[in-house]
Amino acid sequence: MDILRMDLADTGSPEGLVSLILKHEPNLPLPVPIEELALQLEIEEIAELQTEGFEGGLITDTVRSRGIILVRKGLNQPRRRFTIGHELGHFLIANHIPDKDGQFLCSREDLRALSAKEGNRRAKMEVEANRFSSLILMPPPKLRDAFKKHPSPSLEHVFELADQFDVSKEAMARAYAEYHPEALAFIVVKDEKVGRVYHNRKRFPFVVASRNKSVPQGSTFYRRDLQIGIPSEIESRLADLWIDVPRGQRAPTLIEQVCLQRNGFALIMLWHESPEEEDEENEDMTTRDRWRAQQERYRRD
Ligand SMILES: [Zn+2]
Repeated sequence: MDILRMDLADTGSPEGLVSLILKHEPNLPLPVPIEELALQLEIEEIAELQTEGFEGGLITDTVRSRGIILVRKGLNQPRRRFTIGHELGHFLIANHIPDKDGQFLCSREDLRALSAKEGNRRAKMEVEANRFSSLILMPPPKLRDAFKKHPSPSLEHVFELADQFDVSKEAMARAYAEYHPEALAFIVVKDEKVGRVYHNRKRFPFVVASRNKSVPQGSTFYRRDLQIGIPSEIESRLADLWIDVPRGQRAPTLIEQVCLQRNGFALIMLWHESPEEEDEENEDMTTRDRWRAQQERYRRD
């Protein structure tokens, strides 16, 4: 690597920083060597965080003359990598101000923050650090290459990419929903209740079932033959099971795939096709048929 911290001077946004890093390091391998990159960008050391109740930290000062990243011991590798990316974000984003004692301390909630209320400056810094971490660990151009190679979305593909990029399945699902050209939503389920929902609001425009409500009856989630860790078949479902269909409009096709996980978790992928798109398609071939054909091709490759 030959990028220097000064190459990034005066860049304030996560997007700007990551595109500059990618410009200077066009051959960044996968998984992105985040520790090496942090050290290259003048982080002195990645050390163990001793403060209870936090997952990550950064020791620095207001002018960033130095930076030491702290990570809680015992995090699994994807979470450790995400935390390092997050702290590197605090270090590089110029207007992030550490607490008065010269450090950032980031909790598990901070590392999940995706939106901040207007005026909440600290929350906004956490959201930006998370965006930086996601973008650097899952660079959009590399995701787009992966989608080109395998255009039909599936949980199998999400899990494969999570391995390849060395990020958690949930982090990959979030980026997948954002950057995949198809209209997708991912729903994290815990104990049969809807939890976090990830979708690209432009491409998946409808309201998805609300948080803390039970997974709707009729979802593949309730099939009795599901096995932990093995994604279900994909199945067409009545769209209004999950989304609000505007009155007077034809319900779109909605496709569902479910994977049960350990400890009461599950991940559900929803794939939405607008009625207009379907009309253009070959009438004899359903989305499901096309998906199967693509999966077949994928497995053969
Ligand atoms: Zn933070």
